[in-house]
Amino acid sequence: MTITSFNPATDAVLTEYDAHDAPAIEQKLERAASAQREWARTPVAERMALLRRVAQALREQKAGLAPLATLEMGKPLAEAVGEVEKCAWNFDVYADAAPGMLQDQVVPSSATDSRMVYDPLGIVLAVMPWNYPFWQVMRAAAPVLAGGNGMVLKHASNVPQCALALEAVFQKAGAPAGLFTTLLVGSGEVKRLIEDHRIAAVTFTGSTPAGRSIASQAGQALKKQVLELGGSDPFIVLADADVEAAATVAVKARFQNTGQSCIAAKRFIVEHAVADRFVDAFVAGARKLVVGDPMGDGVTQGAMAKRNLRDELHAQVEASVQQGAKLLLGGKPVAGPGAFYEPTVLDQVTPDMTAAREETFGPAAAILRVADAAEAVRVANGTPFGLGAALWTTDLDHARQLTRQIDAGAVFVNGMVASDPRLPFGGTKESGYGRELGVLGLHEFTNIKTVWTG
Ligand code: NAP
Repeated sequence: MTITSFNPATDAVLTEYDAHDAPAIEQKLERAASAQREWARTPVAERMALLRRVAQALREQKAGLAPLATLEMGKPLAEAVGEVEKCAWNFDVYADAAPGMLQDQVVPSSATDSRMVYDPLGIVLAVMPWNYPFWQVMRAAAPVLAGGNGMVLKHASNVPQCALALEAVFQKAGAPAGLFTTLLVGSGEVKRLIEDHRIAAVTFTGSTPAGRSIASQAGQALKKQVLELGGSDPFIVLADADVEAAATVAVKARFQNTGQSCIAAKRFIVEHAVADRFVDAFVAGARKLVVGDPMGDGVTQGAMAKRNLRDELHAQVEASVQQGAKLLLGGKPVAGPGAFYEPTVLDQVTPDMTAAREETFGPAAAILRVADAAEAVRVANGTPFGLGAALWTTDLDHARQLTRQIDAGAVFVNGMVASDPRLPFGGTKESGYGRELGVLGLHEFTNIKTVWTG
């Protein structure tokens, strides 16, 4: 099997790799297992020193890493640079915080001493998507490694150069050989990997259908799993919101990363009283986006990662227009080579339309107009997803009540949903389960052991 790296902005093949065959996989898993056994016995302070060196290696190699993401999945170069910097920050945050997170927790009971201790689980298999080809992996890797585990990465097949570059970052940082291992394999290999006795647990980020499949395989093998799946995040603007500020942030929340983010705002749910003002400002902001060569200066929207994903997005837009949505901006692929799509805004969307029911993974926004806050929450919750949500209002007491009524793993008030290494990240409903980042992200992949002494 061949794994092809291609440039979605030009349609050119960049390079091709032979997928790892069975003997190569066996050798890599053996090496990972032996590195992890040693790593589990390594004092926490030494583990943290590696985390810091990884952060440093990322910063030093940023100029070489960032263009790989741009070339393989089409994001603007400045966004790719920011992504590498965020990965480095994540490793520094865990290097500072993990020793405290891993300290024994004494829990008084009838024993002379009773406590929780955090032991490593083993090797965590990471099955990862292409949309943030560095961040998705490194967000999972920092806490997993801090906890004394190893990581085997099966990255998305369209970003093999990024996957190999990450393995090289760990080598450069002086990680034990095999502690972080990249396997170049297709998704057909995942089931065998999950079943392998050297794999202790699985972390998956990607689409909900793939998550279902991996969850059932991991369930069958009785292996712990964290699932970070799709989303259709609501962005609620109430009548008392700072509408101009909301519209400015809304443009970024929908169109950054060319709209290909699980936590991108996808449904803009706006109270009638301010809807026209919001829509005017939002469309004006979206018009200013500069679509073009993602390597180019000043470009704010690159190519989508694959042509078939662009075609799917276009079908969703066309279906929504046929169902009665009003097209205010864009609405079609950009002619010529590359998987470019016009920044698109659909108004008068109703909850039954395609753009509201399905995840739109690209630069197309759906605006739904509602009568009041109660209807806004009802519409926000009217999807199978539950990843993030944004809520804009100047009444913070009201906001606090509403945040508890919204079905999501995170609600951001007067801001856009974003991951932060210090805070837990994850979803509810069909957006998955388990948490990454923060203290919970570290404890997910530990054996939380009760030690009782009479
Ligand atoms: P995807 O098609 O599900 O692929 C993700 C990964 O899973 C890739 O490595 C892929 O390998 C593998 N895969 C696909 N089908 C599989 C299967 N049946 N069994 C085992 N592995 C399988 O997702 P994507 O298109 O790359 O990413 C977009 C999706 O990810 C969106 O739905 C987005 O919302 C979601 N996402 C969620 C989060 C989050 O944190 N919640 C973050 C980012 C993205 P191949 O490439 O070899 O097929």
